[in-house]
Amino acid sequence: MARYTGPVCKLCRREGFKLYLKGERCFSPRCGQIKRPVAPGQHGASTRKLTQYGMQLRSKQVVKRIYGVLERQFRRYFEMAVRKQEETGNALLKILESRLDNTVFRMGFASSRRQARQLVSHGHVMVNGRRVNKPSFNLRVGDVVEIKEKSRVVLPVKEAVEAAKERAAYPWLEVNYEDFKGTYLRYPAREEVEIPVDLQSIIELYSK
Ligand code: SF4
Repeated sequence: MARYTGPVCKLCRREGFKLYLKGERCFSPRCGQIKRPVAPGQHGASTRKLTQYGMQLRSKQVVKRIYGVLERQFRRYFEMAVRKQEETGNALLKILESRLDNTVFRMGFASSRRQARQLVSHGHVMVNGRRVNKPSFNLRVGDVVEIKEKSRVVLPVKEAVEAAKERAAYPWLEVNYEDFKGTYLRYPAREEVEIPVDLQSIIELYSK
C-alpha cells in the first residue's frame, strides 16, 4: 500500500506547527520544527497570506499527514463519510480513528503512527485473535487488538509501552499492558480527539 516515504519533519515545517509524527523525538530539542521553524525550500521564510482555498487545502493536508493517509484513500474516506447517517466531519473522524495503525498508536504499543503502521504491516498485530497486516483495517466496537506474543520483546514495542504507562489512557480504549492487549470500546467523540484544524473546511473543500 502506498505511503509517504519522504522526510517527515518537513511536513511539520510546511504546516508551521508540530504534527507529532516521530514519537519521542517530537518532544525533544531535536524536533525539526524547533531547530528550523520555517517552511522548507528557498522561500520558506517568506510569509504569504493564504486564500480561503489555501486554508482549506492546508487543513486537508494536516489531517492526511497526521493519520498518514494519501490523497486517494483520504478522498475515499470522505466519500464513505458523506454516505453515513451523521454529520460528515464526525463520520470522517470516526473512520480515521478506527484505523488499526492509529489504534495501535493510541493504545500505546507504538510511539508514533508510522511505527504502528510498520508493526501492523510486519505482522506483529492481531485483531480478535487473527493476524491482520493491513494498517488501514477499520476496527469495529468491541474488537480486541493484541501484540503477538513473540513480538512483545521487540524493543520499540517495549519502549512505547513503558512510556504509555505513564500517560492517561484514551477513554474510548481499554488497554491491558500486562497482556499487550486492548479493546476498542467505542468511537471517540469529536471533542475528544485533538485535531489542530477545522474539519468543516475539508468538507467545504471537497464539496466545491
Ligand atoms: Fe514534527 Fe516530530 Fe519532526 Fe518535530 S520531530 S518536526 S513534531 S515529526
